[in-house]
Amino acid sequence: MSEIQINLEAIRERISAAAKRSGRAAADVELLAVSKTKPVEILQEAVEAGQLAFGENRVQEILLKHPQLPSKLRWHLIGPLQSNKVRKVLPLVEMIHAVDSLAIAKDINRIAGELGLHPKVLIEINVAAESSKHGFSPDQIREDLEALYELDRLYIQGVMCIPPFDLALEKVRPYFVNLRELRDDLEKRGGAPLPQLSMGMSHDFEVAIEEGATIVRVGSAIFGGRG
Ligand SMILES: *Cc1c(COP(=O)(O)O)cnc(C)c1O
Repeated sequence: MSEIQINLEAIRERISAAAKRSGRAAADVELLAVSKTKPVEILQEAVEAGQLAFGENRVQEILLKHPQLPSKLRWHLIGPLQSNKVRKVLPLVEMIHAVDSLAIAKDINRIAGELGLHPKVLIEINVAAESSKHGFSPDQIREDLEALYELDRLYIQGVMCIPPFDLALEKVRPYFVNLRELRDDLEKRGGAPLPQLSMGMSHDFEVAIEEGATIVRVGSAIFGGRG
């Protein structure tokens, strides 16, 4: 077994156990293998270990890797998106995780219309109000929700967050709880389901699952550090 296969199997087991603790099945949680900075040979190893969903945070890397790997792979853009890159990346990705402003949502909507696409998107929330991070504040998303729902090309599937890094997991848990509660509030306000909660990374994905994550984004625990 390759090291990546061993890592993947261990993570799948931990996902399954955490899902059970939250009263769900392993199949209710999607594992995104975050492959940023890793070469395609390494991704290929993960594919051989049965991993088909990959997360990349830069458009450039998706454009580079996509044509070199099997077409059955599902790519998620998990990093910020600039308007001048929307047209290229939209046809290649299953989901855009980090819609962080009404302006970029409008650009995605317009270009999706031109391309005849209906992209799945998540709204990024800046849960700790960090100036270094992207995303809507809870107040801002409540204000902009109606305008977002008017963008009829977008399938708004849920919310995502990147909480402050902390190895003390009980300090991170409240951010996951906050995101879930904000999601519940947005569902009531918008009158539409927002089933996806994209939260949890290598060090905190189990806590995120306990608090309801449906998509976890795990990089270094699968592929090792990024140097
Ligand atoms: C890099 C990255 C991850 C994965 O981080 P790890 O700590 O390596 O698991 C998850 N989400 C986003 C948005 C990232 O940029």
